[in-house]
Amino acid sequence: MLIIHIALERHHHGDGIMKLRDQGMSKEEVLSTLEQYKAQDMDWKSGRAFAYVYDAGREADAVAKGAMTMFLSENALDPTVFPSLLRIENELVSMMLEHLGGSDEGVGNFTSGGTESIMLAVKTARDRFRKLHPEIERPQIVLPETAHAAFQKSAHYLDLDVVLVPVDTTSFRAIPELTAEAINDKTCLIVGSAPSYAHGVVDPIRELGQIALQHDVLLHVDGCVGGFILPYFKRLGANVPDFDFSVPGVTSISVDLHKYAFAPKGASLVLYRNKSLRKHQIYACASWSGYTIVNNAVQSSKSGGPMAAAWATMAYHGDAGYMTLARRMYDATRQALEGIAGMPDLQIMGTPHMNLIAFTSDTVNVFHIVDEMKERGWILQAQLRSPCSPTNIHLSINPHTLEHMPAMLEALEESIEAARTLPSGNLAPMIQDAFANLDPSQVGDDMLNQMLAMAGIQGVGLPGRMAEINEVLDALPSAFRETLLIHFVNELFIQRG
Ligand SMILES: *Cc1c(COP(=O)(O)O)cnc(C)c1O
Repeated sequence: MLIIHIALERHHHGDGIMKLRDQGMSKEEVLSTLEQYKAQDMDWKSGRAFAYVYDAGREADAVAKGAMTMFLSENALDPTVFPSLLRIENELVSMMLEHLGGSDEGVGNFTSGGTESIMLAVKTARDRFRKLHPEIERPQIVLPETAHAAFQKSAHYLDLDVVLVPVDTTSFRAIPELTAEAINDKTCLIVGSAPSYAHGVVDPIRELGQIALQHDVLLHVDGCVGGFILPYFKRLGANVPDFDFSVPGVTSISVDLHKYAFAPKGASLVLYRNKSLRKHQIYACASWSGYTIVNNAVQSSKSGGPMAAAWATMAYHGDAGYMTLARRMYDATRQALEGIAGMPDLQIMGTPHMNLIAFTSDTVNVFHIVDEMKERGWILQAQLRSPCSPTNIHLSINPHTLEHMPAMLEALEESIEAARTLPSGNLAPMIQDAFANLDPSQVGDDMLNQMLAMAGIQGVGLPGRMAEINEVLDALPSAFRETLLIHFVNELFIQRG
């Protein structure tokens, strides 16, 4: 619940409107002021955070920062003016195609993140489809329910229909037959994850590839979180299903360098099996009064910093460095799975293929567990229930989580005991009675504020604990959750000083 964590910071700000200073600050004053702004942020260097940050240590950080600064002002808008950036991008793509079973025909581009990579892959599928079937106005994409929200966001932005297909409720993997059944003459793209963020499991990509070939649709593999590290887990002996370009039918893969390749944020790649697919990704405009525009990606002017920092990070670790990091995450994951399996109140969900774990509880409110862990300095991520999956807790494991794992498991046991004693479950029936049958698009701001108040969020005074707001969200149908979240964020980003 990323949004809810931001909410915690709200009451630390003063009132009133910020305006541009008349006179500038000194360099020291600027930097120390921003340092103060950071004081309430999550302490991600502590090794106690199991979400949001991917950390490979302080020296790796320094290398990335150096490269980021070196290319901060260079503009990747025009590769003919900054050939260094063209070279860096092509080298990153080349390394990753080699890593993910691509052939000499493979191509790709650097993007700002997984969402942009996915959006480009969806646009590519849409535009290829429109060329082949100009009579169909609104193509559709077929997604397992576990596919990242970025696909639904892309469909929203690109005006496509989404068909969500259920996944297996024990393994949380896509069911290829259901994807096949959902394909019709409007389908431009099917999707599999390697792995899904929520449960860390890889979909049956080989079977999905066969379906894609049979129906002449594209298949995107979302390797945003795992595409980079899964090959290392495989080398360490993990039972990783095939997912890359060596699988027939896979036409594109997204892989975030800012996740488990440990590059600073703003770094992802979208890769294609060949150039004729990628052509649908590129946008050009020569019918305005300014410089000619031709963009691979969504951004136009963009800093060279993130791609240089990604290149630097990968050069610094090398294959051997990543193997060491992967081994630590592999060992930490095994310890976590063993520890959690030994706690009778908790159940691990599915069989994770990577260092991403989800677990649930039949006996204790998991939102209270997350709050209790936070009180003890550990950041875990609550995941709301969905049609395929009960309310649960997610862990993204980092290399230096390894030395903290025994302490984490101890804190988890304490938190379960503490959570057991807390009131729970009163809010959900109340919320369902009052709101669940309303049409969220007809609900006004007053009622939305009332709902936030029931969840303990009122004006600037926000609770330190998130169980109530999470319970409210969990009790609501997804369309209502979305309405409430949009309202909440619209209130959060306001003028202040
Ligand atoms: C993180 C993630 C994304 C989205 O990436 P962003 O970099 O946050 O835009 C997409 N798919 C999966 C599986 C992810 O874990």
